[in-house]
Amino acid sequence: MSYVDEVLEMAAQRDPNEPEFLQAVKEAFESIRPVVDANEKVYRENAILERFVEPERIYTFPVTWEDDAHKVHVNRAWRIQFNSAIGSYKGGTRFHKTVNLSILKFLGFEMVLKNSLTGLPLGGGKGGSDFDPHGKSDREVMRFCQAYMNALYRYIGPEMDCPSGDIGVGGREIGYLFGQYKKLTSSFDAALCGKGVNFGGSLGRTEATGYGLAYMTDEMCKACGKELTGRTTVVTGSGSVAIYAAQKIQQLGAKVVAMCDSNGYIYDEKGIDIEVMRQIKETERARISEYAARVPGAVYTPGKGIWNIKCEIFLPCATQNEISLDAAKTLVGNGCFLLAEGANMPLEPEAVRYLQNSGILYMPGKAASAGGVSVSGFEQAQNAQRMYWTFEEVDAKLQRQMAFIFNNVAGAAKRYGKEGNYLAGANICAFERVAQAMVAQGLY
Ligand code: NDP
Repeated sequence: MSYVDEVLEMAAQRDPNEPEFLQAVKEAFESIRPVVDANEKVYRENAILERFVEPERIYTFPVTWEDDAHKVHVNRAWRIQFNSAIGSYKGGTRFHKTVNLSILKFLGFEMVLKNSLTGLPLGGGKGGSDFDPHGKSDREVMRFCQAYMNALYRYIGPEMDCPSGDIGVGGREIGYLFGQYKKLTSSFDAALCGKGVNFGGSLGRTEATGYGLAYMTDEMCKACGKELTGRTTVVTGSGSVAIYAAQKIQQLGAKVVAMCDSNGYIYDEKGIDIEVMRQIKETERARISEYAARVPGAVYTPGKGIWNIKCEIFLPCATQNEISLDAAKTLVGNGCFLLAEGANMPLEPEAVRYLQNSGILYMPGKAASAGGVSVSGFEQAQNAQRMYWTFEEVDAKLQRQMAFIFNNVAGAAKRYGKEGNYLAGANICAFERVAQAMVAQGLY
């Protein structure tokens, strides 16, 4: 049995109840076979693959908080410090009712690879809770964030682990988390990223993942000689990644005709009005159905099925495994030629295989959504310098960053005889950097 298969089998035996984590490991390991084969002796001697699938540390803690009616609730929470070979831990925080250890381990594992692709000194981590912020008052969210930080503050810090946002954790939540961290540590430092721009946050961080995804899409189009201008585009989700991906791709000339939330989707033939969407989602925290109520000609459809809308470019920006094999077949059948992932692992494995066999341009989230963590890295750099960069500086660096990632991913695919296979290129390029660092640092 090959070394890759041995470790895949070991992981499946150790963590049989962690399907999302095993899915992420399997997807990455299938791609890195040629690298592992070429370095098998040294990787085996250093148990690189066994260590690669094992988080360096996992904190598990209950979060006890009181709602506005003085009822006490207990949520479960985790922080996973996955791999520190190339830098201190970095990765988002997710508050969603579906959060569990398997989901956070998959996200932490993905962060190790994604952060490696940025070329910045960032290790991988992830955290979160099964707390559901929907329908909670600001004060309830604040009390939850404070209780979460009471348990976590000892284990994070600018040189140790720097959490940022993810699903259910945006500027409001990071603000509350930072306020409590500062109170408990008496330190105003870069332990959290995604802070407000008037207290250490980076201009452009809110937009970074979505803008980065649009820049990556542009790079992919350019590489195959296709214009972005005028392309009909569908973006799933309507959160921080989706909104800014839609905004930037429209600025680059494409037309976004549909977006969704977990209740349903809207279709606007004229092109989504981003300011209306921001007002509904960011300011009012309302449902996407509101969009159709406000914009003449827009249509709301409850339930799933946004992928049935005909498009040339599809950008999934909602959540893991949102796109099934059948949905992928529909996209291809309708003439979609490019899919780039803003969300982490939004496609089921069969859907990825189908797209690749269909010859569609496909970029995995670990590369396409690396703009967010890149600008979190820039935020840490600005905090260390005690400086603010302008929005234009950050945006220009982000654009260069996405081109850098695209070129490295495409180059790695080519080096291993898999030209145009960006999934293989991303996994290979990311893994090589981390594995080399692990070998160099010995058995820590
Ligand atoms: P948000 O919480 O801001 O938005 C998530 C959006 O997806 C919401 O519109 C939500 O709808 C929708 N959604 C969630 N679950 C489903 C579902 N099952 N079906 C349809 N829609 C759904 O999160 P983000 O935008 O921050 O994150 C989105 C994705 O991007 C995640 O996979 C995250 O890991 C990834 N990502 C985020 C980064 C960041 O910087 N924030 C960086 C890199 C990746 P509703 O409001 O109804 O719940």
